[in-house]
Amino acid sequence: MIKPKSHKDSYTLPIGGVPFKVSFQDKVFDEGDECDGLTSGSEEKIEICSTLPGHKQARVTFHEIIHSCLHVGGVTQILKGDQEEAVVQCLEYMLWPLVDLRPEIKDKLDW
Ligand SMILES: [Zn+2]
Repeated sequence: MIKPKSHKDSYTLPIGGVPFKVSFQDKVFDEGDECDGLTSGSEEKIEICSTLPGHKQARVTFHEIIHSCLHVGGVTQILKGDQEEAVVQCLEYMLWPLVDLRPEIKDKLDW
């Protein structure tokens, strides 16, 4: 069972050599709408909702890491509208089972 993270559990994750700050907030907003997580590529930060259960936080963090990868890799900049979200969701759904089955990977990533 994965323990939920809170404000004090913030950490930095190197994504393609760029240090992204991962922090946990009571509420996360994307353009005014409450959401589970958010990535700001330009600010090099990821925010995760601290009230989610631990396993959900891990999944949302994984989703946001993919957004960060696309930003650092220059892919976000060539996608339009909802294309980025479609790519992120595809990768999340394809790759998460691999991570979820390997607890040692989660441990190394501090999830
Ligand atoms: Zn997303």
